[in-house]
Amino acid sequence: MFNFSTDGILLRKIEYGDYDFIITYFTRSMGKIIVIAKNAKKSVKRFAGSLDLFSVMNIQCVIPKRKNSFPVLFNVDLDNSFTKIRTNTIKTGYASYWVELINSWMKQGKKQIDVYNLLLYVLDALNSGIIKKEVLSLLFQIKFMSISGFTPNIICCGKCLTPLDKIMQQNILFDLIEGKLVCDKCKKNKKNGIIVSKGTLKQLFWINNKNIKKSEIIKFPDFAIKEGEKLLESFIPCHLEKEIKSLIFLKRIRK
Ligand SMILES: [Zn+2]
Repeated sequence: MFNFSTDGILLRKIEYGDYDFIITYFTRSMGKIIVIAKNAKKSVKRFAGSLDLFSVMNIQCVIPKRKNSFPVLFNVDLDNSFTKIRTNTIKTGYASYWVELINSWMKQGKKQIDVYNLLLYVLDALNSGIIKKEVLSLLFQIKFMSISGFTPNIICCGKCLTPLDKIMQQNILFDLIEGKLVCDKCKKNKKNGIIVSKGTLKQLFWINNKNIKKSEIIKFPDFAIKEGEKLLESFIPCHLEKEIKSLIFLKRIRK
């Protein structure tokens, strides 16, 4: 009856005409895909309560005969609707930010299993509350940037290559445009960037390089969370070269 099936996380849902929804999924086996859910607006029974934002499900789709039209959502088996995210404004703010990053950065139809597993992990942990949401967001951002090939250089001075441990000062300039640290000796007149402490940089490096499951044991002091947030939430929009609406919303509700 259907042409393909895959697990997917619902990234975006928009109304289409009087009856349908256009839905963007980030899937395990096909990356980002866009499908149409026909009659989903009108019929309560059709996909009863299983087309909510952030939900993870198995989807079955039919490929229409007409060229250039979206695959049609045929059936879904809901796995987890992450209700505790959607009923909490701050948690919704974080999840919306992560989902917007994936939606705007990932190309359609390009399988990215590491990104899929990362998103699934952080949504699940955000829902259960097993890890602080602020720490989860640091984890998501730095790992997402690494997988995408844009790791900020936080292991040495980006100019003279002195390793972080050998840099004498405790607070180091991070150049947002170039995405790298600049030690005091190399800094000269450079002022554009943000100052981050060595301790925070080491912790970010640690979570980026450890197995994701290990992050459950990490203790991030509050000042390191604040510094890490400032670093990554400035670096990412700067690197994407676009405004991230959900990040602006998140910053507003987090105050
Ligand atoms: Zn240097």
